[in-house]
Amino acid sequence: MSEATSPIKVERAKTSPSRKKRGLIVPYLQTVLPWFIGLTVVCGAVVAVDWVFDLKLPVVKRGPVIFGVVYMTNLIRYLLFAGGAFFAFYVVLRRTGWFAQIQKSLASWADIRREVMYSLTSLAIFAMVGIIVYLGKLAGVLHFYYDGIPTSQPYFWFSVLAMILIHDAWFYWTHRLLHTKFLYAKVHRIHHQSHNPTPWAAFAFHPVEAFVQAIILPIVALFMPLHPFTIVIWMLYMTGMNVFGHLGFELFPKNFLRYWPFYWHNTGVHHNMHHRCVNYNFGLYFNYWDLLFKTNHPDYQAEFERVTSRDDKSMTE
Ligand SMILES: [Zn+2]
Ligand SMILES: [Zn+2]
Repeated sequence: MSEATSPIKVERAKTSPSRKKRGLIVPYLQTVLPWFIGLTVVCGAVVAVDWVFDLKLPVVKRGPVIFGVVYMTNLIRYLLFAGGAFFAFYVVLRRTGWFAQIQKSLASWADIRREVMYSLTSLAIFAMVGIIVYLGKLAGVLHFYYDGIPTSQPYFWFSVLAMILIHDAWFYWTHRLLHTKFLYAKVHRIHHQSHNPTPWAAFAFHPVEAFVQAIILPIVALFMPLHPFTIVIWMLYMTGMNVFGHLGFELFPKNFLRYWPFYWHNTGVHHNMHHRCVNYNFGLYFNYWDLLFKTNHPDYQAEFERVTSRDDKSMTE
C-alpha cells in the first residue's frame, strides 16, 4: 500500500543517497567514537593523576568493576526484554495473526543491526552513569536506603510512583527539546533512523541522548531517598514500556482508548506513530503531557482503532 492511500501523513527524516551507500559502520563510528575517545581520555587522566600523586582514589579501584557490573546487568535486561519480545513476536507469533501488526512492512535486517549497535553503546553510557551514582553516593549527595522490608512501607510505594511520574515528565520535556532543530540534527536523528522500530530500538540512542535518559536516576536520588528495589521496579516498567513502544505490534484491546483512565496510558501505536510522524506523540508512559500540550497526533485514536480492527488501510509500508 502506498503512503498516498494511508490515513497517516508520514514525515520521514531525510537520508541522503551517499549516507545509504556508506552502510552502517562508518556513520556509527563517526557518531560514537568521538564521545568514547573523550571518555577514555577523561578516565585515563583520572588514573594518571591518582598514580602520580598516589591518591588511592576509591573510584579508580572500584570504577572498572562498577562499569562491568552495570553494563552486564543492563545487557541482560536488554537481551531478555528486547530479545525475548523479538523472538516472541517476530519469530514465533508473527504469522498467527493473534496480535495487530502496526505497519504493513516490518524492519529490515540492516535496521535491526543498527538498532542493536547503538543500543550496545548506550549501555556503556548507562554504565558510566552507574559510576556517577557511585561517586554521588560516596560524596553523600545521593540518597539511598536499604532497611526493612520495603514493600511494607507506604513511602516505598510512594517513591515507585514518584519515580515513574518524574521520569515521565523528564522524558516528555527532554524529548521535546531533542526535537528542536539543532538537537534533532545532531543527536535525536539517530533514534529516528528507525521508521518502523523493532524491540531492539529500545536503547538505540546517540551517546548524548543515552546520557540524558540515564541521568534522571541520580537527579531523583539527589532529593528523594530510593531503595534499590524501587529502582528495580521502575527499570522493569521502563524497559517493558520502551520495548512495547518499539514492538511494532499493538497489545492493547480495541476499546482501550475509549475509556478513562485507560486513554491516559500510552499504547504501542502511540510511539510507533512518533517514528512515522516525528512532530507528534512525545510521551513515554502516560498520555497526559501530550493531551495537555496538544501534541498527540490528530489521528492517534483513529489509527489505534484501525490497527486493532486489523484494517489494512491503516498500514503504512
Ligand atoms: Zn522510539
Ligand atoms: Zn523523537
